[in-house]
Amino acid sequence: MALKPISLVIPPRNPHFVGDGFRVQNFIPSAYGLDMQRMSPFIMLDYNAPFHFPATDTPRGVGVHPHRGFETVTLAYQGAVAHHDSAGNSGVIGPGGVQWMTAASGVLHKEYHEIEFAKQGGMFQMVQLWVNLAAAHKMSAPKYQGFNEQDIPTVVLENQMGHVKVVSGQYQDTKGAAQTFTEVHLFTAYLNTDGKAAFSFPASNNTALLVLSGAIQIAGYEEDVPDNHFVLFENQGEDFEVTALEKTQLLILSGAPIDEPIAAQGPFVMNTQEEINQAIRDFHTGKFGSLAD
Ligand code: MN
Repeated sequence: MALKPISLVIPPRNPHFVGDGFRVQNFIPSAYGLDMQRMSPFIMLDYNAPFHFPATDTPRGVGVHPHRGFETVTLAYQGAVAHHDSAGNSGVIGPGGVQWMTAASGVLHKEYHEIEFAKQGGMFQMVQLWVNLAAAHKMSAPKYQGFNEQDIPTVVLENQMGHVKVVSGQYQDTKGAAQTFTEVHLFTAYLNTDGKAAFSFPASNNTALLVLSGAIQIAGYEEDVPDNHFVLFENQGEDFEVTALEKTQLLILSGAPIDEPIAAQGPFVMNTQEEINQAIRDFHTGKFGSLAD
C-alpha cells in the first residue's frame, strides 16, 4: 500500500451568501493554488456548513440563472432544496439526497429552499459541486438525475465503524447512483467515533476530502483535521486511511483530470474564450430556453 501524501490542508473559509439561501465557504477554486485545473474535473466546491435559517413564507435561494459546459451537483445533508430548469426537469431533495444536473449545452435553472422547509425554518447543510465536462460532452443535451437518500448505494463498514454513501464512481465493489461522463468518484462517509475507512484511487486522479463535521486523523499525517477543513492529496500513491476522532461526516472526491484548457466566466465553463463569448450571445438571444421566476 502506497499512501498518498497530503499536498495541502485548507482551513475554514469566510462564509459568503449565494443568493439569500446558501451561506457557503468556497474551497474550489480558491487561494492556495487550488484552481480549476488543479482539481479537475471538480471545478467548484461550495460548502454550506450547518446554519439555521429562520422561518419565512418566501423561500430563500437563487433565482433563474444559466449554466453551460459542466454539471452542477447538489448534496443535501440538512434541510431541503428544490430545483427547476428550462429543460423541464425539477426535483426536491431532502437530507441525504443528491441532484446531479448536467447543464451541458445550456439550461436556465433556479435553486430554492423547499417551501415547507422554508416555512418551518431550521438547520440547513449542503454542498454544491461543479463537475467539468470534456469538450466532447460540453454541448450534449442537458440532463437531470435526482436521488433520494435511499436511492444511493451504501457500503456498511465492518465493526459498526460507519457507512459510505456512493453517489458516483465506485467504492469497494459498490457502484454509485449517478451516471458520469468521465471517472468521478463522489462519496459521503459517515463514521462513528474511532471508525476507520480506507480509500484507494489512481495516483493520477485528483483526490481530496472535506471534513463536513467531526474530526479525523489521516494515516501518515501528524495533525488532526477538524471540520470545515479541505485536504488535497498529491498525485502520488493510491491509498489513504482516515480515523474519526468523533462522529464525523466526510465528503470524498476523486476524479480523472480532464486535460484540456479551461475558459471560465461566471456560470459558463468552456475550453476557449470564443466559446464563452458564444455562450453569452446564446444566453442573451434566448437560446437557453425560458423559465419563470
Ligand atoms: Mn446554478
